Amino acid sequence: MTDAPKKKAHYPLPWFPVVDDELQAGGRPISAWAREMGGRPFYIYDRRIVAERIASLREALPPALHLHYAIKCNPLPALVDFIAPLVDGLDVASARELETALGSGTAPDTISFAGPGKTDFELERAVSAGITLNVESPTELRRLEAVGERLGQRPRAAIRVNPDFELKASGMKMGGGPKPFGIDAEQVPAVLADMKSMDLEFIGFHIFSGSQNLRAESVTETQTKTFDLAYRLAGDAPSPLKSLNIGGGFGIPYFPGDTPLDLAAVAENLAPLVDEASKRLPGAELITELGRYIAGEAGLYVCSVVDRKVSRGTTYLVTDGGLHHHLALSGNFGQILRKNYPVAVATRVNGGPREVVNVVGPLCTPLDILADQMELAQAGPGDLIAVYQSGAYGYTASPRDFLSHPEPGEILV
Ligand SMILES: *Cc1c(COP(=O)(O)O)cnc(C)c1O
Repeated sequence: MTDAPKKKAHYPLPWFPVVDDELQAGGRPISAWAREMGGRPFYIYDRRIVAERIASLREALPPALHLHYAIKCNPLPALVDFIAPLVDGLDVASARELETALGSGTAPDTISFAGPGKTDFELERAVSAGITLNVESPTELRRLEAVGERLGQRPRAAIRVNPDFELKASGMKMGGGPKPFGIDAEQVPAVLADMKSMDLEFIGFHIFSGSQNLRAESVTETQTKTFDLAYRLAGDAPSPLKSLNIGGGFGIPYFPGDTPLDLAAVAENLAPLVDEASKRLPGAELITELGRYIAGEAGLYVCSVVDRKVSRGTTYLVTDGGLHHHLALSGNFGQILRKNYPVAVATRVNGGPREVVNVVGPLCTPLDILADQMELAQAGPGDLIAVYQSGAYGYTASPRDFLSHPEPGEILV
């Protein structure tokens, strides 16, 4: 007899305790939270885990590097309010996120607004609030200047640069090649020359290359190139840089075989880069902006089994939750080949007889998958299914109205 090839496993995720084989969050069993939420699907975010992630970043990263939270990964106001005092600033991507950021009491000059297609309304809100705009195109820069003139206020403008390199091995590439994001590096000198005669306050550069990277060597390579690019471009700047935002892109392990990013290795490379930058760009605040790494591991998505059926030998657990609440879980948010998130039966995490099942949602589409051919404790109607790694790009990144099912609850504990 030969051994079956070793199946890749999910990386252990021990920060949600298991007591009597039931998953806990915020010091209580998940079934207690489910009752409190009235039986509907819900997200639960644990602030202890968020605080731990921020503390580990603070401990590892050079102290001179400022840490921002990119709120689009999870803009729940209670969560943003909790994170705001623990970080050095917030990054927003819409007028509504800007309201959330301002509502948290964060100082406007530590809030930045990136994203293509900012409307005049958004530019006006941002300028009158006194936050920094990361400008995505030469046209947007002109529009920003016009908004400033109309309001009689000098806009704070940073240039978002579309670098001439990519963040290798990242889940989502946001730089390199033609992109809707940022101004191509080779166009930036001409834009900077124009800025000399524009009525704008030049803040600096924003260079964000990608998201969900688990490989320290590619993060490190990108960071090295990012600083080099900033030095090259700084020579053409209308005034000394007040800030350099080097992006982020730190990933978390989702799928079988994924392992956590080696933060110590990233930090080791970063320390001399930050030292050098303090000499070559004196007075420039250095910023890294992270979303997923801060919030992603702190969230669970929980729903209930409604039906159990066997179809031609395959067992299906049909739940009241699905891609309308959690698109990324279904594999339709940036995955090329669908892989399973870590999933558990919340009241029988490790024990009980096991079986291989498909867990699906209630939507009338074969895309509505929570787990495909996964070994779980045997479960049936009323059992709770918990999905780990759901604190970022969960509800906020989902087509919530599809099939008009009820919204999930969201709680911060
Ligand atoms: C989405 C985004 C982020 C956050 O990315 P994460 O992978 O969640 O850390 C940061 N900066 C910009 C400009 C973004 O668009």
